[in-house]
Amino acid sequence: MSSPTPTAAAPAEPDPARAEAIVNLAKRRGFVFPSAEIYGGFRSTYDYGPLGVLMLRNVKDAWWRAIVQRRHDVVGLDAAILSSPRIWEASGHLANFTDPMVDCRSCKERWRADQIGDRCPACGSRDLTEARAFNLMFKTFVGPVEDEASVAYFRPETAQGMFVNFANVLQTARKRPPFGIAQVGKSFRNEITPGNFVFRTREFEQMELEYFVPPEEAPRWHEYWVAERYRWYVGLGIDPAHLRLRPHGAEELSHYSAATTDIEYLFPWGWGELEGIANRTDYDLKAHAAASGTRLEYFDQATDTRYVPYVIEPAAGATRAMMAFLLDAYAEDEVGGERRSLLRLDARLAPYTVAVLPLSRKEPLVALATELLEPLQDRWMCDYDDTQSIGRRYRRQDEIGTSLCVTVDFTSLEDHAVTLRDRDTTAQVRIPIAELVAAVEERLP
Ligand code: ATP
Repeated sequence: MSSPTPTAAAPAEPDPARAEAIVNLAKRRGFVFPSAEIYGGFRSTYDYGPLGVLMLRNVKDAWWRAIVQRRHDVVGLDAAILSSPRIWEASGHLANFTDPMVDCRSCKERWRADQIGDRCPACGSRDLTEARAFNLMFKTFVGPVEDEASVAYFRPETAQGMFVNFANVLQTARKRPPFGIAQVGKSFRNEITPGNFVFRTREFEQMELEYFVPPEEAPRWHEYWVAERYRWYVGLGIDPAHLRLRPHGAEELSHYSAATTDIEYLFPWGWGELEGIANRTDYDLKAHAAASGTRLEYFDQATDTRYVPYVIEPAAGATRAMMAFLLDAYAEDEVGGERRSLLRLDARLAPYTVAVLPLSRKEPLVALATELLEPLQDRWMCDYDDTQSIGRRYRRQDEIGTSLCVTVDFTSLEDHAVTLRDRDTTAQVRIPIAELVAAVEERLP
């Protein structure tokens, strides 16, 4: 088998065809389905299919490993999604978490005023209403009575869970600034114009860290976290040519922020935010302390001083990051004169690390294949496929990003060896079954 002809690196300019290829692949191979598709879909919501759920979990696990597991200064939290209006009143979200909305009087479409010029993007009319503030929080009622006293909100960010638990965590985790609280979970925003596949949805997953520091150290930690987070994306395979850092101008800063830098990715339609790293100052802890009457500060025994820490917040989207990883990994090349499309995903993100492929469905082969599958499954997510020709099975595994394929053939029954094939190079080597786990391990990051 010949090795693939090298593919040109993805261009450092917007590439709409790439979006189409990924949306199509996501549906066809089971990464992402339109939600309630049998009923015609439901308002830009999406469901994660058998492969999407694996990959999204890998994205979140990779974040958790970097932010929580491999550090001793960050602890985790999983706060409630359904939350008290008092949280959002104190945080400023009830008053400020709004987008400016305009209506087109001609075609009745609604838009975010800051995302369009003076014309309706749908019909071109200039007859737009004045912009009015639209609060993005989803409101619901807790209990059987739908009145003001039973109002609750679906959290629009995970961050507030960390602030309202600050005292609880400080007491139980025995940490002192600089230290962080991390959380991964769903957030909800009633976006006026969701779109671009899973880039902007009303229900999405966030990965947020609130890192509490002595106030005078905040600028230094802000820089530190911008660099750390940039490295995370590059370390998991995003081409640096498709990433840029964008500090916010003064007029753009959120109501709580002293400085924010976005990590942006070159999406097929242009640059878009992957993650924002904000210096939230002591805004949130002070606001919650004032509203709740609970002290939210750190008492430094060494210096006998009390202070309210500043917070540096790297806030990333898991679903948006997954989309960027997919887009960046997508490639097409030629193997033995045949075109193939593949996902050059880092093995830590790929849905399947290994696929086991018995050459035929004949019993002795299937028995051997299922036997060697077991120790692999103990360690990694594995696919098993005994349908169609081996060439087509390789193509399928390449297209879903499986890092390695193990082929079991009739000779395997005699020489107790299998073929290990690499996705990117398509190179194949014969490996004794007894050494298979070690051989796979050796090839993973
Ligand atoms: P935007 O300006 O695009 O609305 P934002 O600046 O309000 O986003 P943040 O509040 O900083 O976003 O949220 C942190 C991260 O959460 C974003 O960088 C993004 O990855 C993710 N995120 C925010 N809103 C959405 C959404 N509607 N759908 C998917 N991911 C989102």
